[in-house]
Amino acid sequence: MMDKEKALEILLGAVQPFSRVEEVALDQAAGRVLAEDVRADMDAPPFNRSAMDGYAFRHEDLPTSGGVISVRGTVAAGEVFTRTLTPGEGVRIMTGAPVPDGLDTVQMVECSEERDGGKVFLEGGLPRGRNIAPRGQDMQEGEVVLTAGRLIRPVEVAMLATLGKARLKVLARPQVLVHATGDELLLPHEGRPGPGQIRESNGTMLKAQVEALGVGLDARFCGIIPDTEEATAAAIEGAMDADVLILSGGVSMGDFDHVHHELKKRGLKVLIQKVAIKPGKPLLFGSLERPGLAPLWVFGLPGNPVSSFCTFELFVRPFLRALLGLPAPHTLTMTARLEAPMKGKAIRRTQHLPARLRVVDGELVAEQTDWHGSGDLRGLLDTNGFILVPAGGPWPEAPGPVDVVVLEPEALRLASPRSRSAS
Ligand code: AMP
Ligand code: MG
Repeated sequence: MMDKEKALEILLGAVQPFSRVEEVALDQAAGRVLAEDVRADMDAPPFNRSAMDGYAFRHEDLPTSGGVISVRGTVAAGEVFTRTLTPGEGVRIMTGAPVPDGLDTVQMVECSEERDGGKVFLEGGLPRGRNIAPRGQDMQEGEVVLTAGRLIRPVEVAMLATLGKARLKVLARPQVLVHATGDELLLPHEGRPGPGQIRESNGTMLKAQVEALGVGLDARFCGIIPDTEEATAAAIEGAMDADVLILSGGVSMGDFDHVHHELKKRGLKVLIQKVAIKPGKPLLFGSLERPGLAPLWVFGLPGNPVSSFCTFELFVRPFLRALLGLPAPHTLTMTARLEAPMKGKAIRRTQHLPARLRVVDGELVAEQTDWHGSGDLRGLLDTNGFILVPAGGPWPEAPGPVDVVVLEPEALRLASPRSRSAS
């Protein structure tokens, strides 16, 4: 069986970065991946800009001990002062306004005192250029400011606006189809499960996990496939125009687990089959070649809800980020302090045990979630990461350091995460 590191290496090595491009309006660009280099169409600041409300003057006119200058007018943001100034003259100026030609320093209004006859006393001792953002300081016309491949976050949106990019090229949305397999499954609106039935949850969850990546993927949950060869084959056929297919369940050794077989019949190039991890051992990953097109990437995830969740986070998520060419696709692994002893023992597979992670006095602290195994979705509610136990041990000692996978950095600040018993 393949170990986790090898599986990730294969997965990330197989990715052929997505290249379909489309044009969108700037207000639709957040969360997409930029697909063009964007240059500055002008200098920024576009003029020598006052960074303060105050008085602009010539540095050589003001003694170090301070002095008086004649105020020849006021320049507001958006105005341009064009009158010629002579030595000893300056202007009152507002933040964001262009500094008139010939003036080179701004004293803050707090360090000034108005005098009669249109004069002002300014405190001295400030260096030439103080409180002025010089033209071109931030970027110069023609310079590449944003390169293709960048995820468009709010700050990129603002920068694109600054650069006048009302429309821009982004990567098209890779289409990710999710199917759940299982005769026992019932959708939430289909009423109360009868004998032997349970409610479907993985399909809905996996679609939400894809969307939670926030990187412009188009995720669709296509419903439940009955456990028959025909239905499985039809679902695979129906996904041949998508970019990624995620199948939940039906990848184990059961009599009605048809996913692997039907994918192989269709020509699946198997890249990963079974990984030495717990939960999630039956993971399947491969590609279906399509003439003239990028392959359809296929994941078969184990059906137990926690296994599905975990294998998505550990494998599908990095894959999808890499598909979009985003840097550092791996999930975040850190060292935390384990406070209380954990239940369990080391086995020959890498274990990912649901955990509550939080920051206490600047230190990451991990606590094992009260959890009953791969079917226990409820136990995941109190989870924002996994404690990593290496294959073959050692089993982590408490108190002591432990490796953890961080799933939700935002949740680390919760002072006391809820627990099953306390809720
Ligand atoms: P499988 O991988 O198909 O053998 O499923 C393993 C376990 O997970 C079984 O108990 C299934 O009932 C359960 N299961 C499979 N698929 C789902 C799903 N989509 N939602 C909730 N539970 C599931
Ligand atoms: Mg099944």
